[in-house]
Amino acid sequence: MPAALVNQIAAGEVIERPSSVLKELLENSLDAGAKRVSVVVDLTGDGLIRVEDNGSGIMKDDLPLAFLRHATSKISSFDDLVRARSMGFRGEALASIASVARVTLETRHQSDAVGSRLEWVPGEDPLISPWDRPVGTAISVRDLFFNVPVRKKYLRSPQTELGHLTEAFQRVALGFPDVHLELSTPSRKIFSLPARHTPLLRILDLYPTFQEEDLLYHERGGEDLRISLVLLRADRLRKDRQFQHLFVNRRWIRHPALFEAITQGASGRISRDLHPGAWVYLDLPPDRLDVNVHPTKREVRLLDGDRIFSLLRRVISEAFEGFSEKIFLEQPS
Ligand code: ADP
Ligand code: MG
Repeated sequence: MPAALVNQIAAGEVIERPSSVLKELLENSLDAGAKRVSVVVDLTGDGLIRVEDNGSGIMKDDLPLAFLRHATSKISSFDDLVRARSMGFRGEALASIASVARVTLETRHQSDAVGSRLEWVPGEDPLISPWDRPVGTAISVRDLFFNVPVRKKYLRSPQTELGHLTEAFQRVALGFPDVHLELSTPSRKIFSLPARHTPLLRILDLYPTFQEEDLLYHERGGEDLRISLVLLRADRLRKDRQFQHLFVNRRWIRHPALFEAITQGASGRISRDLHPGAWVYLDLPPDRLDVNVHPTKREVRLLDGDRIFSLLRRVISEAFEGFSEKIFLEQPS
C-alpha cells in the first residue's frame, strides 16, 4: 500500500471533522510546553484552522520528520510508552492531517537562529523555506478533506462544526487552566482565557453565568492517586450531563463507570432526575493507566479501577458536605 493511502486510512480514525484537527493541534502545542496558544478558525468557504503556540518549536532538521507516520519525538521504547505523560505519542496526527488537507507550518526552535516554513500538499514534495518568527509554532490547516470527497460530504454546516470545535477547545481549556488560550473567528473572539492557578477560575471564565459561590473546590489523595474536583451547586444543575467532565492526567475522557461513581457519591444530595455538576480531575502515575485503547485516546483503561471508583464516590460525597456548609454560610435562611 502506498504511504499516502495508509495515512488517509489512519486519518479516518483520528480525523473525523475540524474539531478533531483542533484537538490534535492543541495537544501538540501543550506537549511542546506552550504557555500561550491562540486559535483562529474560519469554517466558511474552504475552511481554516490555525493554531499558534509559544512552545519549544521544531528544530529545522526535524521538520520533515514531523509529517512522517510514527515519527514522534515523544517516545522511543515500550517503557517510554508506559510512562508517557505527553498527550501525544503515536506520531500519527500530523501525518494524518497532512494526508487530507493543505498544511502550512511555521516554526522556530530556541536553538535555531532563523525559523522555517513548510508547505505541505498531499502527493507533492513539501516546500521548506527560511522564516522569521519568535520561538514556537504556528500550524494552518486549510481545505480539510479536499482530496476525500466522501468525507467532505459528511461535514455539517459551519455553525455545527464550529459548535463541535468549540467543545473540543473547552475540554482542553478545562484540562489546562494554567495555559493562556484563545479562540476566535475572523469576526469575533469566542474565548480569551488567561492562565489560572485553579480549575475553578478557569470554569468561571468558560461559563460566565456561574458565580464563584456556585462552585466548590475539593481535593483528596496522595502521591499515587489524587482526586481534585469542582462541584456545582445543586440549584444550577441540569438534566443532562453538560456539566459533568472527567479528566485523567489532564486528558478529557469518557468513562461510564466513573460517571456512575459520581452519581452514587451524590445520591441523597440532589434530586434523582438531575446529574451532579462536577469537573473531576484524576492524577495518577502514567503506568497505572492505559491510554492506548483508542486512537483518539478518549477512553482509558485504569489499572486500579475499583479503588478509584470507591475513592471517587467518597470524595464526591464529602464535597457535597462541604457544600451544604458553604451554601448555609452564604445564604442563611
Ligand atoms: P505525536 O504528538 O503523537 O508525537 P504528531 O503527529 O501529533 O505526533 O506530531 C509529530 C511530531 O511533531 C511531534 O512528536 C513533535 O515532535 C512535533 N510537533 C508537532 N506539533 C508541534 C508543536 N506545536 N510544537 C513543537 N513540536 C511539534
Ligand atoms: Mg500529537
